[in-house]
Amino acid sequence: MSRREAIKTTALATAAAAVGNVKPASAQPAPPAAPPAGPYTLPPLPYAYDALEPHIEAQTVTIHHDKHHATYVANLNKAVADHPALGKKSVDELIRDLASVPEAIRTAVRNHGGGVANHNFYWLSLKKSEGAAPKGELLKAIEKKFNSFASFQEQWTKTATTLFGSGWAWLTVDAGKELRIEATSNQDSPLTAGRTPLLTIDVWEHAYYLKYQNRRADHIAAFYHLINWDTVAERYLKAIA
Ligand code: MN
Repeated sequence: MSRREAIKTTALATAAAAVGNVKPASAQPAPPAAPPAGPYTLPPLPYAYDALEPHIEAQTVTIHHDKHHATYVANLNKAVADHPALGKKSVDELIRDLASVPEAIRTAVRNHGGGVANHNFYWLSLKKSEGAAPKGELLKAIEKKFNSFASFQEQWTKTATTLFGSGWAWLTVDAGKELRIEATSNQDSPLTAGRTPLLTIDVWEHAYYLKYQNRRADHIAAFYHLINWDTVAERYLKAIA
């Protein structure tokens, strides 16, 4: 092969490689049909994606908010698309009164609407607090109900750790204005049982798997560095007012 032929061969190979990188239009996956744009929307994350590091890293927060939470919103919008009156209610109102949702879409609203309500609430419960503890009236109520903050933590950890499958652990206020720790499965919310949530931890694997894999207990231990006790205290005072 002459030098000239060699240059020509190389040029052709380069051109072929470049063409090879461009997929014909027919090979591109079709974009999924867009869900209805409303009536429910995804609230923006109230802090930067990396604000909870190192306890929950940016990649988990990004996927959890932009994909999981967003998908619950999209699926709730699909569920209520033919029920404009329902869409006028807040998502918390929907979940508080599931019995009034038409039976044909009740399970979809329970699952996807619960997913929206729970995640809306979850992000606002978090802040890098590095082991801060509750204060004031909330601390008094915790000590009255659980004897001490330490025994509250013990019960919270146990509830979140032993919840079978996917779900959430909660600190709530019941109708008698008493504190309680409880768990819900899947995307069920204590709102449906008439209680007021103060704090929650998401123990679905998507909330922690990238960093902690199967070690749910490690995620729960790290969560004590992420509780926004000021927000929990505000919620408590509002619930008992
Ligand atoms: Mn989640």
